[in-house]
Amino acid sequence: MTIVPNFQTVVDPQKLEKLAEVAVKVGLRLEKGQDLVITAPLPALPLVRLITKHAYKAGAGLVTTFYSDEETTLARYEHAPDASFDKASDWLYEGMARAYANGAARLAISGDNPMLLAAQDPAKVARANKANSMAYKPALEKIANFDINWNIVSYPNPSWARQVFPDVPDDVAVGKLAEAIFAASRVDVADPIAAWAEHNANLKKRSTWLNGERFAALHFTGPGTDLTVGLADGHEWHGGASTAKNGITCNPNIPTEEVFTTPHALKVEGHVSSTKPLSHQGTLIDNIQVKFEAGRIVEAKASKGEEVLNKVLDTDDGARRLGEVALVPHSSPISKSGVLFYNTLFDENASCHIALGQCYSKCFLDGASLSQEQIKAQGGNSSLIHIDWMIGSNQVDIDGIRADGARVAVMRKGEWA
Ligand code: ZN
Ligand code: ZN
Repeated sequence: MTIVPNFQTVVDPQKLEKLAEVAVKVGLRLEKGQDLVITAPLPALPLVRLITKHAYKAGAGLVTTFYSDEETTLARYEHAPDASFDKASDWLYEGMARAYANGAARLAISGDNPMLLAAQDPAKVARANKANSMAYKPALEKIANFDINWNIVSYPNPSWARQVFPDVPDDVAVGKLAEAIFAASRVDVADPIAAWAEHNANLKKRSTWLNGERFAALHFTGPGTDLTVGLADGHEWHGGASTAKNGITCNPNIPTEEVFTTPHALKVEGHVSSTKPLSHQGTLIDNIQVKFEAGRIVEAKASKGEEVLNKVLDTDDGARRLGEVALVPHSSPISKSGVLFYNTLFDENASCHIALGQCYSKCFLDGASLSQEQIKAQGGNSSLIHIDWMIGSNQVDIDGIRADGARVAVMRKGEWA
């Protein structure tokens, strides 16, 4: 038996400790007595141990971690019977949903190899993803509807680091990815907690301005892009820290650079081109070009991964419609790093983006009190999927369009106007 090395010695222990502290105190704002459910890839064990320590120091009731392993995921694709690919651990997700209903917080550590399933049969990947999405729904709803405080942070798994820095030895790649994660997560400074407070205040200023403007639509123009994204009735912009329905103000994504809201599911028109590759559950989808009519994608092309893209779009009707539009300046630290992470948590924070699928109910005025029917009536989309992809660059301009048709410059050449 061989143990996969995780090159822990090249990961700065002080910064890793700060990341764990930020995850608990900024990302989750874990409350005394609150239980915590963690999911993590096996190489992230050093970070799980530090987060668990800080969670108990913050008064956590019970911390429970579920680990995943890339080799065992691949074993299924190589050896499982065909019927396996329509199965998912619904009992596990039902248990998680029960934990959240009972007040537990949720922390996910990302770090898997983005290309893990690239060589597997796309039909099997799509079936397994669909079965998993359906089983996950009761737990995901509690997260997507922001019932509870939750957070995602990352750990530099060797298999991920190898993808991002393919030309250097594995230990060097892990060290470089660790530093990129620490910088993007703002834990490479003396006082990360204060740095996050300042960053949250800046994001709040942007979302407050956009909420005051109450645009009816945003118009994106750039190479291969002429897209009008109607915004949902009663939409609300969010960014940085926000308050979950359980009353806890947390920072779900670390890092985060975006301000985002809900598009109108029936009011998106025109065409748009992706500006960065999308890594979707093991497949790279590149140079996406889609055409929208009355909010629905009627044509989709990609230079790479087109088959997977079209399978994703066929998940359900909502998969062809938008559930999120987000603004990120081109000068964001992640964009400036020049690193393509092949991981949405990072890459979506390098660029303006849109998401196919499920909308966030919190992105409506008084969203917490709206029923699913009301959200739909106001233009909110619903789907089993939520997939972000990048459409911003230093060549993209964005106008806000008011209800009376007047235009206001929002971004020019990828920067706030
Ligand atoms: Zn986003
Ligand atoms: Zn998103």
